[in-house]
Amino acid sequence: MSVSLDVQKTQDSLPTEHYDVVVVGAGPYGLSAAAHLLAQNLKVAVFGKPIYFWREHMPKGMLLRSYWWATDLSDPQGAYSFDRYFQAIGAQGTDPLPVETFIDYALWFQKNAVPNVDETYVSCVERVGKQFVVTLEDGRVLHSRTVVMATGLQYYRYCPAEYEHMPVHLVSHSSEHHCLDTFANKVVAVVGGGQAALETSALLHENGATVHLVSRHPLRWIPYANMRIPALLRQLRAPKAGMGSGWLNLLLEKYPYAFQRLPRNTRDYVLTTRHGPAGSPWLKNRVFNKVTIQEQKPITAVEAVDGRVRLTCANGETLTVDHVILATGYRTDLTRLSMLHPQLLTSIRTYMKSPELNPWFESSVSGLYFIGFSAARSFGPFYRFVIGDAAAARRVTSAIVRQVAHSRR
Ligand SMILES: Cc1cc2nc3c(=O)[nH]c(=O)nc-3n(C[C@H](O)[C@H](O)[C@H](O)COP(=O)(O)OP(=O)(O)OC[C@H]3O[C@@H](n4cnc5c(N)ncnc54)[C@H](O)[C@@H]3O)c2cc1C
Repeated sequence: MSVSLDVQKTQDSLPTEHYDVVVVGAGPYGLSAAAHLLAQNLKVAVFGKPIYFWREHMPKGMLLRSYWWATDLSDPQGAYSFDRYFQAIGAQGTDPLPVETFIDYALWFQKNAVPNVDETYVSCVERVGKQFVVTLEDGRVLHSRTVVMATGLQYYRYCPAEYEHMPVHLVSHSSEHHCLDTFANKVVAVVGGGQAALETSALLHENGATVHLVSRHPLRWIPYANMRIPALLRQLRAPKAGMGSGWLNLLLEKYPYAFQRLPRNTRDYVLTTRHGPAGSPWLKNRVFNKVTIQEQKPITAVEAVDGRVRLTCANGETLTVDHVILATGYRTDLTRLSMLHPQLLTSIRTYMKSPELNPWFESSVSGLYFIGFSAARSFGPFYRFVIGDAAAARRVTSAIVRQVAHSRR
């Protein structure tokens, strides 16, 4: 069944009243949190378009960087895990997993675990006394004791300043392209050095474009597990973890709260350097000798010339292309969450434009929680991926249950 049939859209589906919790966002994090909150008999409202970012802002034909078994949405009983989905449809998971399979699974999860999602967007979240006042784009106004912000990546697109003056038909961000076949027979530069840059380059090439991948840094690849050593030794040396083997990955995955206790500069190092941009090894065959790779080439000037784009590198070399796709990723910047009322925004304590969160994902404003990408500075790199959704959902739910019980008393 398609999602639009399952999702309530009518204004009278949610009368204006008081909620225990409003979840803003219906991606993997928002849906997982909602599934856990609903199981606690709380009065929950969920807003957003289910799995929208995956359906509209990722390229068709993309393969997941995470293993399928590390990309579950979470419900308290595990009744709607990826494994259960494959059992239900009589299929088996394989890696790397096509994005389309993940989307089908996540919509199945939504239909079963969180059937009452309202697709209306939230236009304002405001703190009034001890409550939050949540205004929707269609004018409805709700009151809630708590709010969970799970708005994902879309507000945080990062475009380097040197491209800002360029018209959109010449320079775009990778998240703007769901279909890359419009670039067939075009010369395209992809700027970036991580998974999105490499996979966008591969897909563009496979769709008939001539591709130049331009990266400021040398490319980094996620290592393959060494299959020549015995399995036990391999597991001891680099245990299997959801986002790549290794002890650090396993620790970050299983004990995200330990990350919060690390000194700030260690956390920053892990986030930006240790877990900086890198590509899955299965992409190598799809880009080597197919895409022109220009590593360690910082771009210093960008100009439109005769309807094309001229890029000038630091060493003076130039490259002229029909279009530039910036696969330059995302950076948390709370001020971009336009639905946060200015007064509320100024009350949220931040570090490097990210909210500072307590171990329960709660910001400095009591009752206001952030999960997913916004939480990565506090909880580690895996909160940029689906794998963090279960721990986040559990923590947020237990904190909200306590908070609601306290306020009812
Ligand atoms: C190219 C690419 C590839 C990736 N590959 C992987 C991968 O292989 N494995 C992995 O684990 N992760 C991957 N990720 C990361 C993954 O996308 C995120 O971890 C995940 O989507 C975050 O989920 P989320 O629920 O926080 O946000 P999102 O999935 O971004 O969902 C945001 C939700 O918020 C809603 N929303 C936005 N604004 C409002 C509003 N004002 N009111 C109400 N609702 C609103 C949207 O409609 C949507 O429902 C990838 C990311 C990119 C960009």
